[in-house]
Amino acid sequence: MAIATTVKPVVIIDGLSSSGSSSVANRVAETLDLERFSGGQLYRQLCSEKGFCPKDRNAPDFEEKFVIFAREIIPKHPEFDSTIDNKFLDLVRNATKPLLAEGRVTAALVTKYNIPVIVKVWITASLAERVKRYKLKHANTGAGQYTDEQLTKIISQKDQLDRERYLRIYNVDIFKPELYNDIVLDTTGQTLDQSYYQLINDPIFREKIKKLFDFYPDYGTSIVRWKCLECGYVYEGFVPIHMCPRCGNIDPDKFADLAQ
Ligand SMILES: [Zn+2]
Repeated sequence: MAIATTVKPVVIIDGLSSSGSSSVANRVAETLDLERFSGGQLYRQLCSEKGFCPKDRNAPDFEEKFVIFAREIIPKHPEFDSTIDNKFLDLVRNATKPLLAEGRVTAALVTKYNIPVIVKVWITASLAERVKRYKLKHANTGAGQYTDEQLTKIISQKDQLDRERYLRIYNVDIFKPELYNDIVLDTTGQTLDQSYYQLINDPIFREKIKKLFDFYPDYGTSIVRWKCLECGYVYEGFVPIHMCPRCGNIDPDKFADLAQ
């Protein structure tokens, strides 16, 4: 029997822009079968509603425009932050599964509203690494034309803006994530796979994630290891999967149980 709870507990994976936090969060959500909340996605959607043209995202001077928008337009809309809070609370209230929240400071949101939290993770990477990842991600857009020097300056400016913003609205300092997170994971020089495996094998993470099973007894207590016989993908997670996340194989006969 599931324990009756009105609010689902939340797993937090936050990080600075281009730190790799959303990629790691996607993998963890898939492994643990969690519902997703993306603070960044909601933020971008709200910016568009306040007049920031989505087409500008492909312009060569996109980041400069965005910094100006963040500095000059957002402060004129105090309802901006409360909208983010309310959408998050709605999701928490209506979630059918535990939630994985990912953004810049969703950790501050759960604290502010006393929402039960499983674990709070902060993903970080050096500025040079974040510049490299930004370039890879935006290689095919106008923003991919920035030089390393330009990007270093832009990303630092955005960090500073974010820092001021979150100090003001949530009273947390994103330059000191160790003060309000359980785990701070530096992914500099790592591939996504390496970061993901480092996190799910982190002793603190492994210990804290067990709390999920108090809320969801049908979640396994040990990690399931299944190999997809179609593509060779090895799945490791607390809940059985029905579809290979890599190739989409759904034939139960084409999975091998590596734990046996
Ligand atoms: Zn597969």
